[in-house]
Amino acid sequence: TEKPTALIMIFGATGDLANRKLFPSLYNLFEKGKLDKFAVVGVARRSLSNEEFQLRVKESVKENGETEADIEEFVSKFYYHSHDVTDSSSYLALGKLAEELDSHYGLNGNRIFYLAMAPEFFGTIAEHLKKDKLTDVAGFKRLVIEKPFGHDLESAKVLNKQIRKAFSEDEIYRIDHYLGKEMVQNIEVIRFANAMFEPLWNNRYISNIQVTSSETLGVEERGRYYEKSGALRDMVQNHMLQMVSLLAMEPPIKLTTDEIRSEKVRVFRALRPVKGEEVNEYFVRGQYDKGSMNETDVPAYRQEEMVNPESNTETFVAGRLMIDNFRWAGVPFYIRTGKRMKAKSTKIVIQFKDIPMDLYYQPEKTVNPNLLVIHIQPEEGITLHLNAKKSGQGTDATPVKLNYANKGIDGLNTPEAYEKLLFDSLRGDATNFTHWDEVALSWSFVDNISAVWENTKEPSFPNYASGSMGPDAADKLLEKDGFFWWPIT
Ligand code: NAD
Repeated sequence: TEKPTALIMIFGATGDLANRKLFPSLYNLFEKGKLDKFAVVGVARRSLSNEEFQLRVKESVKENGETEADIEEFVSKFYYHSHDVTDSSSYLALGKLAEELDSHYGLNGNRIFYLAMAPEFFGTIAEHLKKDKLTDVAGFKRLVIEKPFGHDLESAKVLNKQIRKAFSEDEIYRIDHYLGKEMVQNIEVIRFANAMFEPLWNNRYISNIQVTSSETLGVEERGRYYEKSGALRDMVQNHMLQMVSLLAMEPPIKLTTDEIRSEKVRVFRALRPVKGEEVNEYFVRGQYDKGSMNETDVPAYRQEEMVNPESNTETFVAGRLMIDNFRWAGVPFYIRTGKRMKAKSTKIVIQFKDIPMDLYYQPEKTVNPNLLVIHIQPEEGITLHLNAKKSGQGTDATPVKLNYANKGIDGLNTPEAYEKLLFDSLRGDATNFTHWDEVALSWSFVDNISAVWENTKEPSFPNYASGSMGPDAADKLLEKDGFFWWPIT
């Protein structure tokens, strides 16, 4: 493939995301020789010289364990612009710098605008980029935008309208970093490149699907943001529903951006809305209490910084989703995500239906159902749970596991999500970014649930101990259907 050439402008270049993810990812692309000509302008509020900024970039790259080879050449392409997001004259100066760099480096007028800062500025920035002519370019112009994309459907629509004034839908790259993860991208390949899965991938052979994304960390310094967000908006609207759509979509007719996205959108359209009284029947909210993690005592959510001592914000969500189409009618998709849980893990378990008759039945002992487990993080791989004969005399069946560990086989670290997504945005491949239609449909699904939860205080909060797998009600959710959560550790 052709190597991309572009000027990359990072808004929020002194922030956490830029330091932890964006600079190291760019460095990796540079080191692997994947970029042609490029330059970076860091944009942020405080005043810094180019040299001071370059030093920060160097530190960030080193902290991420990169070698020093080529680092001087790499950082020499970094420039800094101290910026006020509401001031036109600041944009005009930025535009002038961009033009100079464009001609100095021969960047063909290609521009990436990466917004790595607080979402309340996204709309203003996009409007100024247009008004102050930073988007008048000879080459391509693309907007890369971080989550959260709005707070609900209404605010997402307002934001979308603002950014659409300056960029067309196909110039907008809405990041969902889960879509950059190796094993999330692998869902499609596992499904569509294997004769043994796709024929079974439906309600005749699958009994239920379980998607868990658990964190061990608490809210850390993000209390102020999280109080207004909660797990439903922070995780379910984007990452969890995106994984569900990849698991449930029909095979696309081609592996193009448009075909894949339209199949994903059809899943969101088939998602059965959960409203009013059904919300508490099919969704469970949790909030962590104090507890012990790795033998260290940790505080309850309500005791965290910037959190209301009587907070009604959920730090855990479990839910049962139904997809009303021919393929999935009757198959529950269970999702579960939370903070301060027992393990940091993202996993998908596909449980196949029981065999028609159990020849190996013994009292208290039935054969296990077949499971396909997709390990997203921290391990990457798949495990297939089968039954085989127990060695020795007799015909007893015993569970066996076939394991494929992604990292073990390749022998090297798979690139980080951000590295892949940055490269995709430079190449102009929007497949692993979320289209507006997906954003809108997933907000309308989630808004129905927020509407109920925000208007009723949950009396049981806090309802799960730090270091546990969430509230008991999350287990009951599956028990009602005759299932249970498969252990994820
Ligand atoms: P941060 O608070 O660490 O950084 C904010 C940046 O914005 C700083 O560079 C600051 O100078 C700049 N800024 C703030 N106000 C400004 C103004 N008025 N004018 C110009 N610049 C201004 O934030 P972050 O953690 O890097 O997050 C950035 C975005 O990425 C957010 O939308 C966040 O939700 C999203 N995000 C972050 C992470 C992460 O790991 N940090 C992960 C996923 C998504």
